[in-house]
Amino acid sequence: MSDTVHVIGAGIVGMCTALYLQREGFEVTVVDGRGPGEGASGGNAGSLGIASIPPASLPGVIRRVPRMLLDPQAPLIIRWRELPRLLPWFARFVRNAAPGRVERIADARARLLERVFDAYAPLLADAGAENLVRRTGKLLAFEHADGPARNRYTLEMRRSRGVRMEILDGAEVRRMEPALGPVARAGVYFPDVQYVADPLRLVQTFAARFQSLGGRLLNETVTGIETAAGGTGAILTTAGRHPVGRLVLAAGPWSRRLARMVGYRVPMATPFGYHTMLVDTEVQPRLPVMSDDRSIAVTPMEGAVRITGIAEFAAVDAPPDWRRADIALGHVRILMPDLGGTVASRWQGARPSTPDSLPVIGRSPRMANVFFAFGHDSLGLTMGAVTGRLIAAEVAGRAPEIDLTPYRPGRF
Ligand SMILES: Cc1cc2nc3c(=O)[nH]c(=O)nc-3n(C[C@H](O)[C@H](O)[C@H](O)COP(=O)(O)OP(=O)(O)OC[C@H]3O[C@@H](n4cnc5c(N)ncnc54)[C@H](O)[C@@H]3O)c2cc1C
Repeated sequence: MSDTVHVIGAGIVGMCTALYLQREGFEVTVVDGRGPGEGASGGNAGSLGIASIPPASLPGVIRRVPRMLLDPQAPLIIRWRELPRLLPWFARFVRNAAPGRVERIADARARLLERVFDAYAPLLADAGAENLVRRTGKLLAFEHADGPARNRYTLEMRRSRGVRMEILDGAEVRRMEPALGPVARAGVYFPDVQYVADPLRLVQTFAARFQSLGGRLLNETVTGIETAAGGTGAILTTAGRHPVGRLVLAAGPWSRRLARMVGYRVPMATPFGYHTMLVDTEVQPRLPVMSDDRSIAVTPMEGAVRITGIAEFAAVDAPPDWRRADIALGHVRILMPDLGGTVASRWQGARPSTPDSLPVIGRSPRMANVFFAFGHDSLGLTMGAVTGRLIAAEVAGRAPEIDLTPYRPGRF
């Protein structure tokens, strides 16, 4: 097999994978119909969320979800015509709420999350991008004084796996983040969580470094993958046909389609999230805040405050519904009543969500030269470099640094 690798997708996962493949000595081509980071990777909340050990599907989910779907202000929305297609995914999602499974999934997430900073460090240093990472910690805000007690289960899930945290009362939480209003009555501070102050620029910086090291970046959309017995020989794009040595699928929420081209049905939903950028705010939040009650995040980005939130289950290429962004903004006006500011821009992007809250990482069982690197849900920015390092080692044929069984494509 030649030493060439094609990576489909120039999001954070694709670019980190490409950089790690270069470090392994491969000649790498990244193919993307958009610019680097212009999928979900550029518009997210920026958190390097090493405390996000609890999976999305938790005991009690079957009771909570229907209630949320009936509340027009709730952060969870389904475009109803999608429901028939989504039901099998939801059935798997709910099965993963069994306590034993939750613990196993939490362990598997923790194994990736404990490697996040170590995997990013060489890429950030080499690309000169360390200044984009802020080490402020992160605040989880509650609107009930007993919020942390009510969330004992998920807090303990983190603490028992080594996540440091401080429980704060109302006065302490508002002292730590003065932008919070009186509705904030308790909090949990995660001192070791870091964030990226401009995720789009991070991916663009990685892409520029990749090219300066000899990597090729093709602005083309992949429309087909030619398969032969046990492997793939070429990709078809909007510009023509490219023979491939090895192929990495890192196309985020669009990966399901590409996986199907090589014969795999990967269960993946693509819930949209939205962001609003506020400029000229009256106060500047000091650190990223996540509201537990409202499921929105407020992040002090470079030159603006970014409000992110909403999980809207829709088809991956469906048009945005900007009312969703307004719902999130409305929540922020209550959480941080003095924030002020004007809306500079809005954005929508899709998360690639598997029903077991674990990414798909590893060699395809039936196609020896195809590798999967997608399905990171709400943690793709966090896990991008870890996934890149794992995939590059797998492509190079080296033993993985951790057991990849929980993330393997063949698990579904
Ligand atoms: C509102 C919101 C907030 C979030 N906050 C966080 C956070 O704080 N921390 C965190 O870690 N994660 C967060 N996430 C999740 C994170 O953004 C994603 O998990 C991550 O961006 C996925 O990266 P990716 O590289 O897999 O996919 P993407 O960034 O979506 O990139 C996929 C790329 O593949 C390309 N592509 C697709 N199909 C083709 C094709 N056929 N041919 C060529 N190219 C193709 C696309 O153009 C795109 O550029 C958030 C997501 C949302 C929506």
